[in-house]
Amino acid sequence: MKIHPNVSVNNLINYESAAIENISNAFDSKNVASIDILRLDKIHNVISGNKWYKLKYYLENAKGKQRIITFGGAFSNHLVAAAFAAKMMNIESIGIVRGEEPATYSPTLQDAADYGMRLVFVSRENYKNRDDILNKLNVDRNASIVIEEGGFGETGVKGAADILQHVPDLAGYTHILCAVGTGTMMAGIVRSALPQQQVIGISALKGADELTPVVASFQQLPHASFEINFNYHHGGYAKKSPALIDFMNKFHQKTGIPTDFVYSGKLLFAVNELIKENYFPQNSSLVVIHCGGIQGNRSLPVGMLRF
Ligand SMILES: *Cc1c(COP(=O)(O)O)cnc(C)c1O
Repeated sequence: MKIHPNVSVNNLINYESAAIENISNAFDSKNVASIDILRLDKIHNVISGNKWYKLKYYLENAKGKQRIITFGGAFSNHLVAAAFAAKMMNIESIGIVRGEEPATYSPTLQDAADYGMRLVFVSRENYKNRDDILNKLNVDRNASIVIEEGGFGETGVKGAADILQHVPDLAGYTHILCAVGTGTMMAGIVRSALPQQQVIGISALKGADELTPVVASFQQLPHASFEINFNYHHGGYAKKSPALIDFMNKFHQKTGIPTDFVYSGKLLFAVNELIKENYFPQNSSLVVIHCGGIQGNRSLPVGMLRF
């Protein structure tokens, strides 16, 4: 059964659960008036958070097609989200994975495979040769939608621009904070934020300076001001520090909100530090985008996180 062309892919997701919660109490607020969080981690237990928004218009384009083809690393939440979404839409999915096929799959790869994704492993050297890889798959390209790694590109940005629709009193905030991987989500948030607002992205990667012009390239004037902060990567992508893990445990204790060590943990850690160093002007109102991805915590030793 193919998804009916008149059924919006939006019906697959529980948007009502994307609630705003106040988390001011978890911080030593000083001059910040209030801190809220948008719980995008609650919209779906597999396609959590921003992965859905980045995929949604690609999925609209996939209606009537036979499959989606996408790219990612062995720990990519995007691959799992794409695999699950394709399964829900009753179409095929192919995941091109960077690196040799491991003897034992990561939990992420295992999930993607369990949701029916055909995994094709490509060496790191060849991974950039998109055309070559796609030709070798031997599938009808016209019947396929190709989605870049992490949903990167205008279609992904357009979807991410819908995220702020879940913030009821958007104009009431001075600052919007989000995590940054490929920058696709942030580009959408900057696009849909109000011109007087400031969007601050916390990079999960070390030294990824090229992300700032990437986010800028998706904007038209006038747009919200924005800045990517590269000081809170804790050693680099998917690296962690004891201070980060300790913060995540304490944040959960105070708020009941789980975070992941790759993105949202680093984001909230940074929010806490920026508040401490009086980065925000008097009476700022912050909204932090919790963009999901808790599954990534499964690669941590049991007991490290107390949630
Ligand atoms: C993928 C992901 C991000 C990064 O999003 P980009 O659009 O690639 O910058 C941030 N947070 C979570 C939880 C994610 O899963």
